[in-house]
Amino acid sequence: MSAHMKADTTSGNRGLAIEQLLIFEQDTKGATGVDLPDVPKVRERLGGMKNAAPIGLPGMSEPEVVRHYTRLSQRNYSIDTGFYPLGSCTMKHNPRLNEKMARLPGFAEIHPFQPLSTVQGALELIDTTARWLKELTGMAAVAMSPAAGAHGELCGLMCIRAAHEAAGNGARKIVLVPESAHGTNPATAALCGYTVEAVPATADGHVDLDALKLKLGPHIAAVMITNPNTCGLFEKDAIAIAEAVHGVGAYFYMDGANYNAIVGRLKIADLGVDAMHINLHKTFSTPHGGGGPGAGPTVLSAKLAPFAPVPQVIKVGEKFDALEHAQSPRAPTAFGRMKGYHGQFGVFVRALAYMMAMGGDGLRQASGDAVLNANYVMARLSKDLTPAFAGPCMHECVFDDGFLKGTGVSTLDFAKALIDEGFHPPTMYFPLVVHGALLIEPTETESKASLDQFITTVLALAAKAKTGTAADDFHAAPLFTPRRRLDETKAARKPILRWKPVAPDRDGNGASASRQAAE
Ligand SMILES: *Cc1c(COP(=O)(O)O)cnc(C)c1O
Repeated sequence: MSAHMKADTTSGNRGLAIEQLLIFEQDTKGATGVDLPDVPKVRERLGGMKNAAPIGLPGMSEPEVVRHYTRLSQRNYSIDTGFYPLGSCTMKHNPRLNEKMARLPGFAEIHPFQPLSTVQGALELIDTTARWLKELTGMAAVAMSPAAGAHGELCGLMCIRAAHEAAGNGARKIVLVPESAHGTNPATAALCGYTVEAVPATADGHVDLDALKLKLGPHIAAVMITNPNTCGLFEKDAIAIAEAVHGVGAYFYMDGANYNAIVGRLKIADLGVDAMHINLHKTFSTPHGGGGPGAGPTVLSAKLAPFAPVPQVIKVGEKFDALEHAQSPRAPTAFGRMKGYHGQFGVFVRALAYMMAMGGDGLRQASGDAVLNANYVMARLSKDLTPAFAGPCMHECVFDDGFLKGTGVSTLDFAKALIDEGFHPPTMYFPLVVHGALLIEPTETESKASLDQFITTVLALAAKAKTGTAADDFHAAPLFTPRRRLDETKAARKPILRWKPVAPDRDGNGASASRQAAE
């Protein structure tokens, strides 16, 4: 084992990073950060529902609480602290101007139940954001309420299902999804009640058009294609795909999560797309990761627009109004509602602030810079790593694990070693069609200097792996993180989801004993 491992300290702390017990393990009976007046005697009106036992909150003073959460926050790796090359996630800088706008009291402190006459500005903001999205994509309509990309996919497929049912084609039960698709695509189709059939990829990372055509027929409801795809490539046959799909009366769903590679450069309506979600939090910047927040508005063709869900913001004369009820006279064919209220309003504010600050020319430059950065990374790594596909790429580049062959180092080991070097790993083992994939999306907001730092580190690690004598070091990584390598399979298969207190032993060590058991 490596000499680094001897760096463990007597306290378990490292440098100035302090080990933290769970907050429930820091319980000091009676300690509190607030001094509330005694509760006055009142007549009990809870009808026997009064809580009989303590609710189990730990007793802590204010400085203890502050230290606990501040220390945890310093363990957080974030786009504000470093480069995040995760492919397909578009982890880019989020301009602070967006945050300032989203915190304006007129946006931040309104309530969805306010009378519409008091939130005309908020409705106008939704309407203006929708107009930008329709203008950029050339599409007829946009459903603003989906809460994330996957939710936008569901919205698009529910529009498609409603359109088929309205046309008496409800018997179409199959959705075609390429092998390289993001996992949310087949999941969405299945959730919507469809059977998913996979379309193979060609050796060069594209949808196999001939194989797709063979699968088309009157039983197909839709085809879902990510474009640019998860191999980082533009589906050059998109128009031919749309024509073939329409030829059998099916709809063309395009997963637009990677829209940041093409925004301002092409109107996706020109590709023959019927529905596409846009991840506002990716393309138009919102801090995301860890599951939210996001917003996944779904743009729709004229054929699908009548089925868009409520609520819909409309302008009547000089006033904004909201269509709230599906199947009502004003929204007779709307399929229903995706979400409470109008969607992720705070994300709309950020997206519109971003779009207006960038302008049409700025958005066009952003997609160009994203593609340039990815190609720069690809070009500089291509000699020493093994690119999965011949370049050029779009906004992300993929390498397979060919360069690690015979070294005893896996893609996972390589990614863990990057953590010790100060870099969040790229996406690993995805797309599935690439063996041992490393998928890197630098985004347009990284400077050449930060890309060079990353590239230099990756090249040095590749050279170290190729010596053939460093496998043990790679297997041991990460060495310098608060937690070492976890048994990820066990964590996924046998997750311990709840911390349970154990009776303390005579030294009061119960809590840490439970912690060890959990580890
Ligand atoms: C991120 C992503 C999604 C899902 O979007 P969420 O906002 O995370 O639900 C779908 N498809 C692709 C290609 C993506 O990159």
